[in-house]
Amino acid sequence: MTGKIALITGGGRGIGRACALKLARTGYDVCVNYMRDVKSANEVIDAVKQTGQKAIAVKADVSNEIEVVEMFKKVDSELGILCALVNNAGIILPQNKLVDMDSERIEKIFKINVVSSFICAREAVKRMSTQYGGVGGAIVNVSSRAARLGGASEYIDYASTKGAIDTFTKGLAIEVADQGIRVNGVRPGIIETQIHADGGEPNRVERMKHGVPMRRGGQPQEVANAIAWLLSDEASYSTGTILDCAGGR
Ligand code: NAP
Repeated sequence: MTGKIALITGGGRGIGRACALKLARTGYDVCVNYMRDVKSANEVIDAVKQTGQKAIAVKADVSNEIEVVEMFKKVDSELGILCALVNNAGIILPQNKLVDMDSERIEKIFKINVVSSFICAREAVKRMSTQYGGVGGAIVNVSSRAARLGGASEYIDYASTKGAIDTFTKGLAIEVADQGIRVNGVRPGIIETQIHADGGEPNRVERMKHGVPMRRGGQPQEVANAIAWLLSDEASYSTGTILDCAGGR
């Protein structure tokens, strides 16, 4: 008999890594998706296996539909039918104002942060939905407080992708609510991961923490705890909800 199975996109680092480890500790077998960093993904796999759960690492660019479909088939054959999806993979691009953004940049970030979540969720719904013979499940989309704050002068493109994720979360939640699937989101604030270095400012958490009511950045595990709760039966009557995890910001 297969147990609980979760797929975490971008599960090799940061929030995704914390999520994979948290879910393993609560009894899930996990698929850790990665794109570039195979070493980190394999370290997560080893750590999950130490908890006694099964784990596989699958390389796929989540913005590539063919690779996503293949990844889900691999989960089917190597782990079983999943009951939890965390749409976590996401990027920021170097800080810029709108006047210096070209369409190539804007299309790229929407493809990786938004289109990916749509196609991963689509594959999950096909497997979880009672209308397709599934037994239900839960999806958590990783948004950002930036969706509400706007990201001015740094990342309005990124913030807008997360606004789209919030709308997607609400709409899909309603669409599949009577099919045994709950869809929720988390909006992390400023969390200590490598993503800030990718935006060109490795010390961004240090600079920004004074503006956070709690006066500190968050840890990836603190976001993973919120995600794990939303996936769990403890959240059985919550769908279409987006939980801020941002130290009051
Ligand atoms: P991170 O440490 O930079 O990790 C990003 C992860 O996404 C990596 O595992 C990376 O995989 C994966 N990834 C990126 N593009 C991908 C693609 N096309 N296909 C598959 N995987 C891809 O970032 P993080 O801070 O943990 O961010 C995780 C999520 O939280 C993102 O959606 C981000 O927007 C959101 N978030 C973060 C913060 C924050 O302050 N850190 C705040 C709000 C929201 P590889 O390493 O293998 O390339």
